[in-house]
Amino acid sequence: MIIKPRIRGFICTTAHPTGCAANVKQQIGYVREQGEIDGGASINNALVIGSSGGYGLASRIVAAFGCGAATLGVSFERLPTQKKTATAGWYNNVAFQAAAETAGLYAKTLDGDAYSDAMKEQVIDTVKTDMRQIDLLVYSLASPVRQHPRTGELHRSVIKPLGAALHMKSVNVDRGEVLEVDLEPADAEETAATVAVMGGEDWEFWIDALKQAGVLAPGFRTLAYTYIGSELTWPIYWQGTLGRAKEDLDRAATAITQELADVQGEARVVVLKAVVTQAMSAIPVVPLYASLLFKAMKERNVHENPIQHIYRMYATQLCSAAPVRLDDVGRIRMDDVEMSADIQDDVRRRWDLVSSENLAELGDLAGFREDFLKIFGFGFAGVDYDADLDPTLGSG
Ligand code: NAD
Repeated sequence: MIIKPRIRGFICTTAHPTGCAANVKQQIGYVREQGEIDGGASINNALVIGSSGGYGLASRIVAAFGCGAATLGVSFERLPTQKKTATAGWYNNVAFQAAAETAGLYAKTLDGDAYSDAMKEQVIDTVKTDMRQIDLLVYSLASPVRQHPRTGELHRSVIKPLGAALHMKSVNVDRGEVLEVDLEPADAEETAATVAVMGGEDWEFWIDALKQAGVLAPGFRTLAYTYIGSELTWPIYWQGTLGRAKEDLDRAATAITQELADVQGEARVVVLKAVVTQAMSAIPVVPLYASLLFKAMKERNVHENPIQHIYRMYATQLCSAAPVRLDDVGRIRMDDVEMSADIQDDVRRRWDLVSSENLAELGDLAGFREDFLKIFGFGFAGVDYDADLDPTLGSG
């Protein structure tokens, strides 16, 4: 099969196996270039939930190749067939696994629904057999649905404002058009559903299950990722349904830290910068903000992609002997550069001026699109995109 990108709105329905492998290799290469992380040896066994793409994949790569940790990953990806490619995350998992093995690092990935009790049991069995205990859990799930393991109810998250309808600037990434979108506010049921999917309950369920199984090492730490952003995106993100769900992570972090007292453990929410991932591309308005942000950050040479950002998080916060940079709610702030006054003033200036006509000049839509295609393995130098490939990589 000759594999080309097939884009439908904010998703690409194909993924390129060799390109995905190049993506993983590039990220590993970046970490190797930076060198071993001081204090990284404190992380021996890491569990990453949502490990096949975006920030979760970067977290796994830094744990393994920056800290020398054994890693267990959990993801939910589509397997390939002879006629249809797998999702990018499946190819990423294959590539990561191969690279870890070559480097002599333990790695195992379990593919299935992280929200289910069955997956939690499978993880616990694997930890008991292969790792004994874990000292880090990174919770990096981004999902539109969750089947509640206790009630069986299927919750669907919505990306909507709260309170009042919203009329805002956005962008059609495909067409490069700046347009106005209208979004109706969520009702109470939709808001609760979004909190059920993206809030902290499942993170708590994971910690409960792992603790009860006795697989948390002394000094165990767990991180969950969040986004806050600036007032430009607050109406659709932080002050909307997603923000409500993310606020629930703050509640969960406090509850989990209390639960971890007897292993001297700690839970922290980490605020990360905006980057292009599958999950973020689906949010209205944010891609416009992100393309203006990328331009402002790149002009000042302070832009970071997921692997650069997560490497800095491990090196300066998670593994560093220096005190962590916390906000008043106790979250680790990695969005310091994105949120700096200089960058935000510039993004606001661009936001007020931007139109379809000047988007290419004021924003970095080209960079956004490039990053988007790379998620699916397209656009890597040295990859033969005309090659006839077996999408199953010999497994089907
Ligand atoms: P992503 O779409 O790149 O990755 C999501 C991961 O979750 C994938 O590995 C996928 O397989 C996995 N997953 C989804 N549903 C699953 C399920 N039911 N069971 C098991 N695995 C499942 O997303 P991302 O953007 O890297 O988001 C990860 C976290 O980072 C989220 O909490 C997100 O809010 C946060 N974050 C993202 C940004 C950003 O700009 N992308 C910024 C700040 C914080």
